[in-house]
This record gives sequence, C-alpha cells and structure tokens, in this order.
Amino acid sequence: MVKLNILSINAHPHDFTHMAGTLGIHKAKGDNVTVVSLTPGTNVHNEKKHDELMKPESERDMDIINQPDDEIKKIKIEELEKACAVFDIDDVRVLDYPQPFRLSEFPEAIKSLADIILDTRPHVLIMQSPFPRAHHGRPGVSADDHIETALATIEAKAVAGVPGSEGIAPHSIATTLYPGVYFNNNEVDFTVDISDWFEKRVAAEEMYVSQGHTPEWSKRRMLVSLGNSGWFAHTLYAESFVREAPELVSEIPMSPLSIRSVEEPIMEKFERMIGEKGKDF
Ligand SMILES: [Zn+2]
Repeated sequence: MVKLNILSINAHPHDFTHMAGTLGIHKAKGDNVTVVSLTPGTNVHNEKKHDELMKPESERDMDIINQPDDEIKKIKIEELEKACAVFDIDDVRVLDYPQPFRLSEFPEAIKSLADIILDTRPHVLIMQSPFPRAHHGRPGVSADDHIETALATIEAKAVAGVPGSEGIAPHSIATTLYPGVYFNNNEVDFTVDISDWFEKRVAAEEMYVSQGHTPEWSKRRMLVSLGNSGWFAHTLYAESFVREAPELVSEIPMSPLSIRSVEEPIMEKFERMIGEKGKDF
C-alpha cells in the first residue's frame, strides 16, 4: 500500500483539530502528514483580551490588553505544535498572514500555498470549506478567514497543477476534503471512527490554553462534538468529511464498519456505543 502524503491547510492554528484524530490515524500508519495554518491566529480566539476589552476601562487588566502581538503569536504557534505533537505530527508550518485574512489584500498567499503543495506533493488535501455558512464559533468572529483561506487554497491548487517557471514538476491532488464541522450531519460523505483516539483529541484540545480551553471545556466540547458525529454514524466518537468531487473507485466501496453496524445484535451495538471510555464521564 502506497504511503499517502496528506496536507491540511487551515486558516487558524485551532482549525487543525477538526481532523486531528483522522490525521493521527494516518500518521500512526506511516503516512506523511503536514499541517499548515495560513495565519498565526494572533487576533482570533484571544478570549482573555476580548473579555478585558468588554469591561469598563477602570476595571481592565492592562497586562492582558497590552500583551505584545509577537508574544501572542509565539504562544499560538506553540499551541498548534503541541497539539500536533499529541499525534506525532512534526511537520507544522505557520505562515504569517494577518487576520482578518483577505485574499484580495494578500494575493501572494496563493504562491505561499502553491509552494507548500509542490513541496509536500499531497495525495490528500484537507482544506477549509469554500461554502459560506454560519461558523461553528462565536457569531461574527473570524468566519470569513476560513472562506478566504479556502479561496486561496483553490487558487494554489490550480497554480501547483500547471508547469511553472522554476523547473519544478507540477502537482495535482487526487482527493480534496472539507472538514465535516462546516456541514450538517446529513451532508457529509464519510465519517472516520476515532473512538480509540478520544483521549488524544481531548489532550490536543487542552493545548489551546490561550483560547480558554480548560480540561473541563476540552472534554465537554469533544464529548458533544465528536459524540454528535459518532452518534449519527453509530459509533462513539468520529470526525466527518465532505468530498470536493466524487472519487473514482474500482467497485462499490463498502466499509466493514458499515456492515458491522447492521449485522451486530442491537444490544451489542448499544454496548459498543456506550464504550468502556463512555462509562467514565
Ligand atoms: Zn478557525
């Protein structure tokens, strides 16, 4: 079986988490995994600063408000690196585009991403969804960064796919996926069972201290979000994906997990969906 090169291109450091368990599975199989964030996330999810600025001036903690951007940037990059390290992913590339990121202001982002595609030569690209939709985060915050990053990525794919002037072989990507968190459960194309990776997903979530991810918040968030995807696929915890285009296959694809789901005794299925890990919360 060929080793896959998998490239994940995100708007912000935290976006990686929406596919982290799946990437962990592939990394453990020996596939090559590269994680990219187009921005260091300096201006988004600075929850402490947000909360301080919402207070009357006399009550504000000026140490939090005056924390230099460079310091925040360093913390955000370290958080992503630590979250990736939970899954043994060590190829982490954070670009320095600012937020809000707008492709019209920084068209050079296309070349930055095309260079990464040409360097990593992915079979699989997991990118931000280009379809506008209410974001999963706080209303009105940072949602457009994802769409603008998606647009830059689409353009970068096109640039990488045609011969350039630098003597580098062009590269076309076999499969492009969007994380299922940007879609409804009935819109996803497939769901990856990450039940065995739940603890690592919680551990990765806890790395985002600057976003206010306490251990309690991290576990609760994973229980609900991964549990929601898992519930609809008849398992404990899962991550879902949407395909950019239909995949060419040699026969009707059929996963043993889908067959198990309809053939196992119902009470065994219920036990499985409670899980050993499910009993301890
Ligand atoms: Zn994001």
